[in-house]
Amino acid sequence: MYKIKTISLLKETMQNYFSDLGNGENKIAWCSSAGPSELLRAFNFKVYFPENHGALLGATRTAGDYIPVATKLGYSSDICSYLTADIGAYLSKTSPLLTHYGLKEIPKPDVIVYNTNQCREIQDWFSFYGNEFNCPVLGIQPPRYLTEITKSDIEDVSNQFKNMVPTCESVSGVTFDLDLFKETLKLSKEATLLWKEVLETAKNSPVPISFFDSTIHMGPIVILRGTQQAIKYYEVLLNELKDNIKNGRGILEPELCRIYWDGMPIWGKLKNLSNLFIKNKTAVVASTYCNSWAFNDFDENNPFESTALAYTNIFINRSESVKLDMIKSFVKDFRIDGVIFHEAKTCFNNSNSSFGMPLRLKKETGVETLVIEGDLCDLRFFSEGQTTTKIETFIEQII
Ligand code: SF4
Repeated sequence: MYKIKTISLLKETMQNYFSDLGNGENKIAWCSSAGPSELLRAFNFKVYFPENHGALLGATRTAGDYIPVATKLGYSSDICSYLTADIGAYLSKTSPLLTHYGLKEIPKPDVIVYNTNQCREIQDWFSFYGNEFNCPVLGIQPPRYLTEITKSDIEDVSNQFKNMVPTCESVSGVTFDLDLFKETLKLSKEATLLWKEVLETAKNSPVPISFFDSTIHMGPIVILRGTQQAIKYYEVLLNELKDNIKNGRGILEPELCRIYWDGMPIWGKLKNLSNLFIKNKTAVVASTYCNSWAFNDFDENNPFESTALAYTNIFINRSESVKLDMIKSFVKDFRIDGVIFHEAKTCFNNSNSSFGMPLRLKKETGVETLVIEGDLCDLRFFSEGQTTTKIETFIEQII
């Protein structure tokens, strides 16, 4: 099976990011993963993403040790397991970041910023740290679950971004520079378009990159948006994938079945699931999750409004009808044979099977759908045996 070689550059890129974060030279902003990182970088903040840490706790299967620690503090084990794992690790004064990247500790925030475009859990999660570190917490609260995004919606969100500026200035000691914000946005746009191109290489057959690979290679687009490093990383990755397409190399040759994955990854089981699909000659070629960081709307000539649009327009913040249309276009563009909906026990925000979407999708596209139960980090909600049987039966039914 082909292994993507750019993984070595990924390790180097992540290592450099964390070393740089921990060098104590800049003020630190903690930010939600679809939060305004470009604006923060325009104030020279180094930006840290607790959700990235949550995913690492899931992937290293250490989340299970920390979730009960947060539960003892009164956080239900039914709520976001990024939140409970991350707060539990903080209370336990440990993190895989210390061993993986040699950090002495996770750098403390000077300011914390979130956007509830994804969920209200992020607000509770980040407010916990605001109390712990006694620092300002700034929230962007866009209108939610939109079918249409109106001018007044954009004006509202754009004003919320603008309102962040005075606090960012006083915390960072840096005066807001519109040109620097525009430049950061331009870098972010370049990286995000490269990331989109990376994901779109999976329209080819053999498939050069799977959903499971993409969950790993998406690290830089989450944590380094708005930097040259993210651009450099995706240029190299894209070149490798294009070369593979040219030479007919893929993760599996040929695939018999092409799957779309909706919902969160099951971080602690990525490898097992990847192997399961490969064994069944099936490629998982596209996903809601990885595409969520392909922002199309950044425009450096209209920085506040376009940032407001880009972050309000994301899949998770749209209505059921818009989400259905988005999945339908993926089904068509990626020549999908089946759609798997991951119903994550602790994230209903990013689980889309509860309101009839699988049946509607099947009716409107003819494509087969399957719902599996699991979770992003809490493996108590995932039965590997049952899921394997369900997935193998589903594939058999398709091919
Ligand atoms: S979207 Fe889901 S996984 Fe992400 S922070 Fe919100 S509740 Fe947690």
